[in-house]
Amino acid sequence: MGARPVTDTFVRIAVDQPMPVLFDYRYALPEPPAVGALVLVPFGRREVVGLICEVTSATDVPAGKLRNVKAICSACAPLSTAWIALAGFAADYYQRGLGEVALPALPQALRDAARWNRLFAVEERYRLLPAGRAQLPGALPARASALRRLADALAGLPSLGLSDARALHPKASATFEEWAERGWIEAVDDGDGDAPAPAHLIPTGAALLPVLTDEQRDAVAAISGARGFAPFLLHGVTGSGKTEVYLHALAELLAARSDAQALVLVPEINLTPQFEAAFRARFAALAHGSIVTMHSGLAEGERARNWLAAHTESARIVLGTRLAILASMPRLAMIVVDEEHDPAYKQQEGLRYSARDLAIWRAKQLDIPVVLGSATPSLETWWQTEQGRYTRLTLTRRAIAEAALPAVRLIDLEEERRRGRASVEGLAGPLIAALKARVERGEQSLVFLNRRGYAPILSCDACGWVAGCPRCSAYAVLHKPERALRCHHCGWESHIPKSCPECGNIDIAPMGRGTQRVEETLASVVPGARVLRIDADSTRRKGSAQALFSDVHAGEVDILVGTQMIAKGHDFRRVTLVGVLNADTALFSHDFRASERLFAQLTQVSGRAGRAGPPGEVMIQTRYPRHALYQALTRQDYMGFASSTLAERRDARLPPFVYQAMLRAEGRTLEAALAFLEEAAAVFAPLPGADRVTVYDAVPLTIVKVLNVHRAQVLLESGSRAALQAALRAWQPVLRSLKGVLRWNVEVDPLDV
Ligand code: ADP
Ligand code: ZN
Ligand code: ZN
Repeated sequence: MGARPVTDTFVRIAVDQPMPVLFDYRYALPEPPAVGALVLVPFGRREVVGLICEVTSATDVPAGKLRNVKAICSACAPLSTAWIALAGFAADYYQRGLGEVALPALPQALRDAARWNRLFAVEERYRLLPAGRAQLPGALPARASALRRLADALAGLPSLGLSDARALHPKASATFEEWAERGWIEAVDDGDGDAPAPAHLIPTGAALLPVLTDEQRDAVAAISGARGFAPFLLHGVTGSGKTEVYLHALAELLAARSDAQALVLVPEINLTPQFEAAFRARFAALAHGSIVTMHSGLAEGERARNWLAAHTESARIVLGTRLAILASMPRLAMIVVDEEHDPAYKQQEGLRYSARDLAIWRAKQLDIPVVLGSATPSLETWWQTEQGRYTRLTLTRRAIAEAALPAVRLIDLEEERRRGRASVEGLAGPLIAALKARVERGEQSLVFLNRRGYAPILSCDACGWVAGCPRCSAYAVLHKPERALRCHHCGWESHIPKSCPECGNIDIAPMGRGTQRVEETLASVVPGARVLRIDADSTRRKGSAQALFSDVHAGEVDILVGTQMIAKGHDFRRVTLVGVLNADTALFSHDFRASERLFAQLTQVSGRAGRAGPPGEVMIQTRYPRHALYQALTRQDYMGFASSTLAERRDARLPPFVYQAMLRAEGRTLEAALAFLEEAAAVFAPLPGADRVTVYDAVPLTIVKVLNVHRAQVLLESGSRAALQAALRAWQPVLRSLKGVLRWNVEVDPLDV
């Protein structure tokens, strides 16, 4: 025991509870308390880890009710007050408690007091050797699923730590020894845990550093010349070399300030390896551990290591998906948000935050530059540049001299039909001919279709039966290779019936098409083509997406078919043709953001064509070739599209001209959910600020039932963000007192309305 403190000390602590309050504790440990330190405290009948937000010498809590802090984490430095302010802002803005935001943002090892003193323990890590890659899978006994998981994890990750390995297989340690003896794997030094970048991404020498185009140079100069808070929109057409601009701006920053840290966000896990390789190659002079990644695909141990590297400032560059916006980076000096328009930056559960918006806030708080990059900026961001609040940097041309933007051509499906031209299983004649020509020339094609599975509907012609999910108000999707009907909303799965369960008819047939069916069709209409499908189903195993993308880069694929997973950011060098199927469905959606999203998606996927020289071509199959969206797309006219869409939004009083929030409720019945929402709307009316907020009628969600739970929502809208925020804040405690539903949540700035 240390000496008794002269005066009593108290700490205010945030814990991970759905309550927007801090809890007071007496602090009598020998180590000095600090704001930002983690502590172990008794909470109810449990002990939980909390975050010290305040150290004080007074408390309102009566002495008899005060409890003592049990332990403090001294293994790592406290979180900074700036970080706590960031978590506090996110909590406030998105209507949550501070602890609900702060604690889940920390790695598991920090939230478990038993592991505090082992935080920096060096653990053994192993990586797969070429011999292992070749021999190991074949050497495993047929039923050894735990061993297979170990082998898969080794194959999919740069390296695997022992603690993560033990979670997969209790005898991992002995197994690894045996495998190492056979020359299949080897131990790696700590800090050298990652495999070299895929060869196609590594420049073979400094001579290959590209000379910046004039536009790129101007953009870099603007970013590097910025002082203080400086939001930029880097608006560059696909293939214009936005990455190169980030790399140069970061290089200048890191060279100018030996302690600076930078955060680079990408929308998708699958894009991190491409970026990581480019960054490691460019910053080869930095120690390996100076560049770390953060995304949900990392094993727990890796995630903790990388988080600590950022927190302790040994990591200079953090490359991550949206969750990385809450990384602790005490020397953060620049933030980059690539593909800033991507809806993946919005978290859809728990704390429903926008990482892009938090990036702006964080940059402002720290008084640093932030670069948002996109070929099709979100209309929110575009509007900011129109008002002069963000600086617009424009790249109008592709970076590689010979590479032009692809020609976009619309295939009029009605016209094809009228002229009696054959289309096979939804693939129009001109597209099939173009695919064949590419295969003959040894060039790659990409077929994009935003629907996975074989067919969205399996139905009976005789009686009208349609396969549905028993737990959701949704069709069950036919998955042919997996021989299953699957619900994409809840994961329900069943065998494919041989005949109609209602009338016995054996002629039940799939309607519509998904990626699996297109894959099958392509194999038959383009004989000899090597067809590869990339979607959530074909990449379920860890590491498999990376392996498939490597095959594409290596030229082992002729036609790549897939969902939006193939549309984003990838720098495919051999693709010269992009075919788009089934885009029309999004034209007439009742979601006002559907057209913005479609335009972005089609621009992105088109941008995969002709990136390295040989001219690219895009073919979009449609029944509405004269639709304004397609017309803008063929002209590659983002600005025209943005200004007409913004004008529509202004007329219709939609975001970004108003601010929205959504209250969603889930009940045992739809009536319960609607009744809750109506009551919520009634108690909202008298709240401060509410007179400036429009509350719409409660309505069921499009897919009203998921997992036997019924869902409905109420939209709130205001021309004043402050009024909406004030009313929402006052609403929280009232909402919490309402009963009758299973769950409810408030989403601020919802993307799906
Ligand atoms: P974007 O993200 O804008 O779509 P990328 O950053 O992927 O584009 O760049 C497209 C391609 O152009 C990449 O292969 C990149 O290496 C190359 N590139 C970028 N800048 C230059 C340059 N100044 N000179 C030559 N090639 C470049
Ligand atoms: Zn039937
Ligand atoms: Zn379901």
